[in-house]
Amino acid sequence: MAQVQRMSRLMVKTLRDDPADAETLNHKLLVRAGYVRRTAAGIWTWLPLGKKVYENVARVVREEMDAIGGQEVLLPALLPKEPYEASGRYEEYGDLLFRLKDRKGSDYLLGPTHEEIFTQVVKDQCSSYKDLPVILYQIQTKYRDEARPRAGVLRGREFQMKDSYSFDASDEGLAEAYALHRAAYQRIFERLGLDYRIVSAVSGAMGGSASEEFLAPAPAGEDTFVDCPECDYAANTEAVTFALKPVSVDGHPAVEELDTPDTPTIETLAEHLGVPASATLKNLLVKVDGEIVAVGVPGDREVDLGKLGEHLAPAEVELVTAEDFEGRDDLVRGYVGPQGLEKVRYIADPRVAPGTSWITGANKADRHARNVVCGRDFEVDDYLDVVVVEAGDPCPACGAGLRLDRAIEIGHIFQLGRKYADTFQLDVLGQNGKPVRVTMGSYGIGVSRAVAALVEQSADEQGLCWPAEVAPADVHVVAAGKAVQTELALDVSEQLNAAGVRVLVDDRAGVSPGVKFTDAELIGVPKILVAGRRSAEGVLELKDRRTGEREELSVAEAIARLSA
Ligand code: ATP
Ligand code: MG
Repeated sequence: MAQVQRMSRLMVKTLRDDPADAETLNHKLLVRAGYVRRTAAGIWTWLPLGKKVYENVARVVREEMDAIGGQEVLLPALLPKEPYEASGRYEEYGDLLFRLKDRKGSDYLLGPTHEEIFTQVVKDQCSSYKDLPVILYQIQTKYRDEARPRAGVLRGREFQMKDSYSFDASDEGLAEAYALHRAAYQRIFERLGLDYRIVSAVSGAMGGSASEEFLAPAPAGEDTFVDCPECDYAANTEAVTFALKPVSVDGHPAVEELDTPDTPTIETLAEHLGVPASATLKNLLVKVDGEIVAVGVPGDREVDLGKLGEHLAPAEVELVTAEDFEGRDDLVRGYVGPQGLEKVRYIADPRVAPGTSWITGANKADRHARNVVCGRDFEVDDYLDVVVVEAGDPCPACGAGLRLDRAIEIGHIFQLGRKYADTFQLDVLGQNGKPVRVTMGSYGIGVSRAVAALVEQSADEQGLCWPAEVAPADVHVVAAGKAVQTELALDVSEQLNAAGVRVLVDDRAGVSPGVKFTDAELIGVPKILVAGRRSAEGVLELKDRRTGEREELSVAEAIARLSA
């Protein structure tokens, strides 16, 4: 049977002050409440209370993974380099990978994630389509030499992840495994009491649900995402799309050239003409696989080169340099306009729709043109969403002004396809006796990060404030100090424990009631039960940690209430 946890014996040292180097709430509070201890940058020790919370999160994850038919395994963290060399990731990971040598000089790494090794396991264990589908998972320590591990357990260099991998003989099977994971993740994060959004992790161009992220909104988050205040639309900033709305090209005055000396930038041009930057058309020149391409966006918007790169992949996108203008009389640096740019492919943002009129370069030094109308004076070869999304941009679903918010990535689900199966030639014998290449999904949850996300979302000025499912105890019993109070506190604690309630009791001698109350608030167990003034009459005070509501109860009432 579970034991009452007695503060007098528990290794927990609370601190009044935040650690000097702490920037985030989870770092400050988990250290101050004695849940974790920093061992080195991004490397954490889980102390008794912290380990309880960590295990509660892990238990929820495990139960829901088991419920979708996941089979738990445990792979090593210390790995030979060869499989990662085969996949190319030994190089690709760069400085993120911890590399080491054994005594014979052979190369090893500390696993950052395990697609390669799981693929090898399944190749070894499964040979027929009858052995599939398979979902394997582990809750295991991962290693990534993060550049700035400064957000407490939110971003560790050593951290705990649930990683699972699905193996199927068909695309339909993969879609099903993906849907199972998505639903399991929803149940997991709901049970944990996390507020979260699901966003597509890939740009609109690739579309679909091949990869989605689970984001927990919190100011300490390192990801930015867009959120609609009016409807349930949420997306990765890279995935926001803007609808193309063509209007009539008629009714505009004719193109007029303007003398605009020394105005090679949007700022200098807008100032010279006394117009807003949004009235001008910015034409960024880039090289796509070596060929010069112009990208048109409104003058007040920035081009997101990452988004552009994703749209044009696998082609490579680079910025142009001075040499690229040599022998190109058609390209006048700083004065490029899409009208008359015959030899250059023109990509534009949908904001540059047919019928819109612009001030733009006249393709002559120190000259610009106005009344340059899209669809009349120039044509767009390809419309791509390439501008950096800004707060207030219209929601693609309902048109309301979007918000930009910060969030923590707590989970990621991904239809990998046959990438690793191809690398390791993972085939099974199909129904017709011919080999079938296996298709794979990979799915992660940051288990230690989820603990941090819970703190970031639920803590208040007094300290931690755990949702019931993950709290280190159900009730924190406080013995105010006198013998009769300690006696009552211990008595009710034993009775609660016998009724299946998880109890932490502050039975410390020589600690003032004030300190005990402050510690109880800081430690953050959902219910606080105080044996105080009316202990001699057998009356206790029950306080809700979150709402602060209090009520007086007899021992029997307290037990009935808390074991309900
Ligand atoms: P990030 O963008 O935050 O670096 P990632 O996209 O590289 O994360 P994945 O490879 O998708 O992370 O890993 C799966 C999950 O593991 C993430 O969704 C996240 O919850 C968790 N995770 C990743 N890196 C860390 C870390 N350094 N510390 C704690 N948890 C992490
Ligand atoms: Mg990710």
